[in-house]
Amino acid sequence: PQRVFSGVQPTGNLHLGNYLGALKKFADLQREGHDCIFSVVDLHAITMPVEKGALISTTRQIAAAFIAAGVDPSRSIIFAQSSVLAHVELAWIFNCVARMGWVERMTQFKDKAGKDAERASVGLFTYPVLQAADILVYKATHVPVGEDQKQHLELSRDIAERFNREYDVPGFFPQPEPMIKGPGARIMSLKDGTKKMSKSDPSDLSRINLVDDADTIAKKIKKATTDAGVIPGTVKELEGRPEVENLVGIFAALSGRTAEDVLAEFEGKGFGAFKPALADVTVAHLAPITARFREILDDQAGLDRILADGAARANAVAAPIMDDVRRIVGFWRP
Ligand code: ATP
Ligand code: MG
Repeated sequence: PQRVFSGVQPTGNLHLGNYLGALKKFADLQREGHDCIFSVVDLHAITMPVEKGALISTTRQIAAAFIAAGVDPSRSIIFAQSSVLAHVELAWIFNCVARMGWVERMTQFKDKAGKDAERASVGLFTYPVLQAADILVYKATHVPVGEDQKQHLELSRDIAERFNREYDVPGFFPQPEPMIKGPGARIMSLKDGTKKMSKSDPSDLSRINLVDDADTIAKKIKKATTDAGVIPGTVKELEGRPEVENLVGIFAALSGRTAEDVLAEFEGKGFGAFKPALADVTVAHLAPITARFREILDDQAGLDRILADGAARANAVAAPIMDDVRRIVGFWRP
């Protein structure tokens, strides 16, 4: 069976991109019977400034969202990354396997560090190395993520290969496969069709949050940037119209239909007709998830038990793999 690993950062509000690019896939993969490990990656969150005292509650929120989206904590492992120290240990070893040039190519660092890269944390720079450790500390073979993580996954594969070669242990670490599929893999900002929808975008109008109510969702979709045209009849005609392509993609992903099918229904119609229909589809899909999310979050003791149990189970998977790693690298052991 495949072992699936993925993580979500406890930074800000989860949005529709996180849901379609990641959470919804988590539930689908679990349903298919895979061995799944899902982490709230708090060690990644502190690579950027975090509001004092906010991490604990955002960590619980992400865990609650996993469950609300359909992940069953009795079948899958749900835990906070910082509660399994092996992530950090393997990340250090991988820092010594990865080459500067490989990490310097990562575009997410450039995006997140902005113009003043000198002032970015060193952690933000080595973030993708920690990500490789997150996956490989469990020898995970499959990683469901959004399109934005493609480059990082390639780095994970390079690190796995180089470790195996350098220490002469062919096949020790698997080559993790990114699972980046479907119309939800790249949801764009509602305000700028060339930027991905993101938790850290300062404009709340740029994203639909998992906790937004029906009115807020309708308002944000109404205010979403579009062009002056109408809905075209073919996918080809969406080219060069990123905002429209994005809205049609969201419609398709949420309703389980193809983009062609959605276009056939709305061909020639204006956004005055399309946007309310999109708002209805979005609310219908998200409302039950939001309700479940609030319920789960209300039971803090229950959530903490799930996270503690997840940490113990994740540790149990990682421990024998780390034993092998220490022996392979050649550290002194008792
Ligand atoms: P941040 O801005 O803090 O990096 P984020 O919105 O990118 O937040 P992450 O926690 O970094 O969220 O990513 C969680 C998962 O959501 C990852 O699998 C990522 O690929 C996916 N994801 C993030 N944004 C999108 C998007 N716009 N479309 C599809 N998937 C996305
Ligand atoms: Mg991100």
